[in-house]
Amino acid sequence: MSEPVFGPVPSRRLGRSLGVNNIIGKTCSYNCIYCQAGRTRELTIERRKFYDPEWLADKVLHRVSELERNGEKIDYVTFVPNGEPSLDINIGREARAIRDAGLRTAVISNGSLLWMEDVRSDLGVFDLVSVKVDAVTPRLWRMINRPHPYLEIKEIIEGIKQFSHGYRGVLITETMLVGNIDYSEEAGRIAEVLEAVDPDRAYIMVPVRPPAEKHVRPPSTHTLLMVYEAVRSRLGDRVVVLQRPEEGEFTALGDLEKEILSIISVHPLRIDQVEEIIRRHGGSMDVVDKLVEKGLAEIIVYNGRKYLVRKMH
Ligand code: SF4
Repeated sequence: MSEPVFGPVPSRRLGRSLGVNNIIGKTCSYNCIYCQAGRTRELTIERRKFYDPEWLADKVLHRVSELERNGEKIDYVTFVPNGEPSLDINIGREARAIRDAGLRTAVISNGSLLWMEDVRSDLGVFDLVSVKVDAVTPRLWRMINRPHPYLEIKEIIEGIKQFSHGYRGVLITETMLVGNIDYSEEAGRIAEVLEAVDPDRAYIMVPVRPPAEKHVRPPSTHTLLMVYEAVRSRLGDRVVVLQRPEEGEFTALGDLEKEILSIISVHPLRIDQVEEIIRRHGGSMDVVDKLVEKGLAEIIVYNGRKYLVRKMH
């Protein structure tokens, strides 16, 4: 059995995050086609005990003390298992014990059980909660997330909204886009749901690690931009694109290139915005040509306007 406490690992969303894998096996309420943990072995919506909660919390606190002795600081203790963390019936107790020791806690959930009151109450203990909104149309949701047959997307969305309205911590949403799917109608629907959920930040993501199903591809840049713009029209700057792995990026590049690349990795830029950044730095548009030549960025036309976007590979 693997260790339930791992890291810390760097995360753009959570800083330095100590990971907790509070689920055994791959046990999940979803079987997402893009899951980097492979196919779900046990598809369930039944909550149960996986570890002794005191033992798990002690493991975390012990690890944190060790790290502190080495002068290492962490930003969050993050429940991010190979499966759905809220299937653990003791997750609230575990989070409370860690939080009471003065540590910040986060959980990366798919949100599919938030229609249950006890799950809302347990996830409410965390300082930061991330939930998944990949699709809102039942057909698309079933195709991408391959949920447990008893789940209904309408009920899940209501549960997420209800959680959001009573939650005092930081709420983030994740929307993973996959290739070969027509998002032209879904984009607006996702944006509408995200507006109602009202997260502190909404991440639009693309698969960057080997997916559960080999046929899964990243979406086209056009699709990425379309969904980004639809969500931005509702949430403004709270929408962020994540389309690269989180570690070790851009280190070998010149400053302005690096700056532009960092920005377009999270916010596609209109060409006039790029020009403005370059003007402020006293640079020239050669920087853009270089990024395009190196295959790191591309210029695409969307809704009659030119954008500079991070190129997907
Ligand atoms: S919800 Fe998360 S763990 Fe479960 S199948 Fe989807 S990506 Fe994998």
